[in-house]
Amino acid sequence: MSTPQYDVAIVGAGMVGATLASLLSRSGFKVALIEAYEPRPFEEQTDVGLRVSAVSPGSTAILEQAGAWQLIADQRNRPYRRMQVEDGVELDPLLFDAPQFNMERLGTIVENALIQWSLWQVLKTGGQVAMFCPDQLKEIEFSGDQNILTLESGKVIVASLLVGADGAASRVRKAIGVRQDHYAYNQHGIVAVVGKSKPNPGVAWQRFLPGGPLAFLPLEDGRSSIVWTRPSAEAQRLLALDTQDFIDELDMASSGWLGKIESCGPRAGFPLSMRLSDCYASQRTVLIGDAAHVVHPLAGQGVNLGFADAGYLVESLIAVRLAGGDIGSAKVLNSFDRWRRSESEAMAFGMHALRSFFNIEGLSPFRRIGMALVKRSWVIKDLFLQRAAGLGRGAPKLATGSAVIELLQGKD
Ligand SMILES: Cc1cc2nc3c(=O)[nH]c(=O)nc-3n(C[C@H](O)[C@H](O)[C@H](O)COP(=O)(O)OP(=O)(O)OC[C@H]3O[C@@H](n4cnc5c(N)ncnc54)[C@H](O)[C@@H]3O)c2cc1C
Repeated sequence: MSTPQYDVAIVGAGMVGATLASLLSRSGFKVALIEAYEPRPFEEQTDVGLRVSAVSPGSTAILEQAGAWQLIADQRNRPYRRMQVEDGVELDPLLFDAPQFNMERLGTIVENALIQWSLWQVLKTGGQVAMFCPDQLKEIEFSGDQNILTLESGKVIVASLLVGADGAASRVRKAIGVRQDHYAYNQHGIVAVVGKSKPNPGVAWQRFLPGGPLAFLPLEDGRSSIVWTRPSAEAQRLLALDTQDFIDELDMASSGWLGKIESCGPRAGFPLSMRLSDCYASQRTVLIGDAAHVVHPLAGQGVNLGFADAGYLVESLIAVRLAGGDIGSAKVLNSFDRWRRSESEAMAFGMHALRSFFNIEGLSPFRRIGMALVKRSWVIKDLFLQRAAGLGRGAPKLATGSAVIELLQGKD
């Protein structure tokens, strides 16, 4: 039997890899998708999951083009129109309201499991993508004009372009020999679903506290999904507390906002780090999502950067195909590397600086000046919001709502 040939082989069908697979197959590319685990079915009757994402309007447009947003919108999700930022010192919070920036919403809180499941449904019912699941990448042979992948099952796949969407511990990244800078924050993000005496009115609230920020993200039923960043040892202590003691400490940390905490579900903690790869593309291979970059979650941008990676890649591959070029050429790879690496590094260092700025207890006068500056400057607010919304200058066309088909027809 001859070895199957694909335009693109993607390793990893997490939120980012599955989005890319759907976008590419809808644009007429022959795609293979290799994933170790099939996602669990998403069931509305089970309680809200611990992992949620603040999905930006730019990412919503990309998920729409991938065919998944239509399924997500029919299920449990919560748009938010206000972002409220406090530094725990100033009484006056920093407010971002969608209408002031001519936006309908600043973002939508969606469970990761729902995004994952919706993409999986699209891929399965579309029938265009060759799915290798459960299976795993074993080794790659780089033969110049194509990459040859051997899977754990013994199957062999040949592709013009390989995409590593296989998460922070990416095997693809290691195989192409890309080095990474890894900065461990010695912090954990504690996540839980929490109900306060007053329902969350659709506000993404964040208070910067010494040791790390505390965020309450609105859920459909009025509860909030929290991400509470604490130094790792302190996080372990908080995770080990019984529920009432944990609630008492969380009440103190979030005092003054929406009353007292009345319910708190299971908790989990995730170690936080910044990881930046030296290069995002080499040897007919591109890295996207957490395989390429991991950023601090304080502004909820990690998966949004990954969706933008997928959007950019699809756009450039369509353009190359229309021009009759090679989708795995050095020119394609270099341009992806340049654009996406500068974008992700800017975001990662921005998050890093913000974290450091609010993390130092003794610097509250500087903080006050910084907060006052941002409060008064519409330019800074607008720039910040455009970038966070995934709609800033240079955002993929897919993120601004133009259909894949328009790109295929070469319209601007
Ligand atoms: C506490 C916390 C809160 C966060 N909140 C937000 C938020 O609000 N907004 C936001 O944008 N981001 C957020 N993030 C970041 C976001 O969760 C990640 O950026 C995102 O999950 C990365 O998705 P991915 O598809 O790139 O990688 P992953 O989710 O890691 O997916 C990788 C996939 O590859 C598969 N795989 C791995 N190796 C192989 C192999 N060898 N063969 C086959 N398959 C393989 C895995 O099974 C997996 O399915 C948060 C992160 C944390 C820790």
